[in-house]
Amino acid sequence: MSHLAALSKLLGPDCSLISDPDITASYSRDQAPFATSSPPFAVLLARSAQEISIALQYANEHKISVVTRGAGSGLSGGANSTADALVISLEKMNQIIEIDSANQIAHVQAGVINIDLDNAAKELGLAYLPDPASRDWSSLGGNAATNAGGMCCVKYGVTSAHVRAMQVVLASGEIIELGSPTKKSVTTYDLLHLFVGSEGTLGIITELTLNLAIRPAAPSTLIATFPNITKAASAAAALLQYRPSMLEIVDQTTLKAVEAWHPLGFEVAGAVLLMQLDENHAQCEAALNTCKGFDLIDGVYSDDPADAADLIRVRKMAYPALERMGATLLDDVALPITKIAEFVERVEALSKKLELVIGIFGHAGDGNMHPTIVHDHGDETAAQRAQKAFSEIVEIAQSLGGTASGEHGIGSIKAGFVANEISATVIELQRAVKKVFDPNSILNPGKKIP
Ligand SMILES: Cc1cc2nc3c(=O)[nH]c(=O)nc-3n(C[C@H](O)[C@H](O)[C@H](O)COP(=O)(O)OP(=O)(O)OC[C@H]3O[C@@H](n4cnc5c(N)ncnc54)[C@H](O)[C@@H]3O)c2cc1C
Repeated sequence: MSHLAALSKLLGPDCSLISDPDITASYSRDQAPFATSSPPFAVLLARSAQEISIALQYANEHKISVVTRGAGSGLSGGANSTADALVISLEKMNQIIEIDSANQIAHVQAGVINIDLDNAAKELGLAYLPDPASRDWSSLGGNAATNAGGMCCVKYGVTSAHVRAMQVVLASGEIIELGSPTKKSVTTYDLLHLFVGSEGTLGIITELTLNLAIRPAAPSTLIATFPNITKAASAAAALLQYRPSMLEIVDQTTLKAVEAWHPLGFEVAGAVLLMQLDENHAQCEAALNTCKGFDLIDGVYSDDPADAADLIRVRKMAYPALERMGATLLDDVALPITKIAEFVERVEALSKKLELVIGIFGHAGDGNMHPTIVHDHGDETAAQRAQKAFSEIVEIAQSLGGTASGEHGIGSIKAGFVANEISATVIELQRAVKKVFDPNSILNPGKKIP
């Protein structure tokens, strides 16, 4: 009997096990442009942890690769499949099981979309804070599996700071619970956070218990222009003293791309910083004065939410403006904040050397930069130079004490860089951990660790 027929029999007539190639093709990859992929032999649209357990038990016994898929919004090829793989999608497991407002927690299935939880929490004056730019369509399970970040994470921390407990289906098919719904817990080793950021390589997250917070007040927004990125990056480090709930940087290449699309009046600026304060609004004036110590060209701030939307438009338009110029490769590295300026200078030199446009923007407050390489659609040699630039950018970040990925994950495109920043002993420890949870290496093989 084929694996498809055997799985179909085990899962029963009501299961959604798809093998139609027109449909499986749409489950073969995420949003990373150059990661390899092939349509899987089947896609299970799982409806329960029990169904996943049955499928994993069979896959483990027969050593079938399993690729877990949230919403497929990833940017590292993490959800990309191979022809011999079974994709298990969590998209149907999208129920908010409970919002416990007294304990400020939410209990959800892993396929719930991030913004849906935040909207439900909003009704109760609460918020789910982690805000990846993909929050309108990425799943909470995917966010936990990649330890997603976002703009407000400079103040509130990335996804790991908001996960209290989870249900996981192990490669063996066993269903386990990790963590505790309590705010504090130091009972036993912290296996919960081992799963946060594990990118589908250790088990399948089926439920999550997540922190909610009292909804922050509408923020004040400040925008400041500087003659160059070095000054803007130095100002960003100084602005951390105001506990910003957003601190973003946009370089001149990106500003020019935005201006060419929608002129917003930034043509004279060498770089822009955007900051939000969701408490201590009165400190905007002091923050502006701090910027003056870094050759501020101009700065304004406002409490008005309509103004805020206008002011942050330049950051929201950064990536789409670069996308208009050609095919793009969006990189993701994290650096000590004091190294941002040097990083940007070296990436600018790389851009000249390889004759490629590279726009740089990102989360200045936590040193997470997204250099975006632009090349002409259909130009194969430019595409190869872009991939070279992508790699060199990671190596520049690593040489400055940074890391290969700040938030998008290692997936299938960055495993080759991991050895540059951890020792052979630590790589062996990582492999040993993988073996404990997934002895037959069926879960997302070849991803995350070299
Ligand atoms: C326009 C755009 C903007 C983005 N902005 C941000 C941003 O600001 N911050 C950020 O961090 N990321 C961002 N991303 C990347 C992406 O949205 C995140 O990585 C997101 O967390 C992925 O969630 P997903 O549900 O789409 O997961 P997928 O892409 O489906 O999967 C991502 C990885 O997690 C694994 N996985 C998914 N679900 C589970 C599960 N239930 N159990 C175990 N493993 C699982 C997959 O196997 C894969 O390795 C952006 C992407 C796009 C396209």
